[in-house]
Amino acid sequence: MRESGCVTCAICGNETTRVGEQQGVLDGRSFVIRSCDQCGFAFVENPRQDFERLYDERYYRGEGADSLVNYAYESEAASRTIRTYEWSGIHRVYAHLAKPGCKWMDFGCGNGEAVRWAREQGTEAWGYETGWAARLGRAKDIPILDEQALDVHKAEFGFVTAIEVMEHVADPIHELRRIRRLLKRGGILFLTTGNAEPWRRNLLAWGYTKCPDVHIAFFEPRTMGYCLQKAGFRPCQMELTDGLIEIIKYKVLKNLRVRDRNCAIDLLPWRQIAKLVDARYQVSAMPYGVAI
Ligand SMILES: [Zn+2]
Repeated sequence: MRESGCVTCAICGNETTRVGEQQGVLDGRSFVIRSCDQCGFAFVENPRQDFERLYDERYYRGEGADSLVNYAYESEAASRTIRTYEWSGIHRVYAHLAKPGCKWMDFGCGNGEAVRWAREQGTEAWGYETGWAARLGRAKDIPILDEQALDVHKAEFGFVTAIEVMEHVADPIHELRRIRRLLKRGGILFLTTGNAEPWRRNLLAWGYTKCPDVHIAFFEPRTMGYCLQKAGFRPCQMELTDGLIEIIKYKVLKNLRVRDRNCAIDLLPWRQIAKLVDARYQVSAMPYGVAI
């Protein structure tokens, strides 16, 4: 938001500071990164608006703005991709945090493979997504709702996930309020997004800000806690549970550009590795929300 020459924070309304510029990967466009001292929110001041082009088939095949994304492969090779560690990890978080048997919505579910995984474990899971990735999932009969259908399912879910979604949205509080409306009172929102806090003095060196075509919002745990409160949630502290360890395992392998799971991977001491990764990147510090 621009007011008489200054750019105010979309979260707390305070004045923000220009951090610097980051080069996009799609067409070399330059993006201005700003941050707010008050709440810790950082964001791209001039985000792209051509969403149809950004989130097209090329993006989901890893040929677009983020080369670490490959939903098409994960859909085709669902039983052997390392993404299975993440699906399994999210389902464990569900089992740990949510009321037994409650309905689960994966908000921004991409190709919907986490939903398929959960359904195979007997959980009544649904997805929400738009565009090419949603069509990919629906072709496999995964129940992925569109924007209109979402409105019909108010206060229906006991658990909502938003996995690596919040860094893509221009108005985080608006999205969190949409999620809040899907949840029953006492329901849980579990989200993952990068933690900007360890990078506070060096934001431009952080991997999340290096995809400014698509990553446009960056949060510290205190920022997310504040956003959750504004959207009708009580923020709660995560623990490094088995589910989160599996999610971290997936993140580590993804960044090492490992594609498929194998026996050698499973022999590694992932609890210890996850603790080291968590000490550096503070993954578990990001709060989850309880709908109030
Ligand atoms: Zn702020």
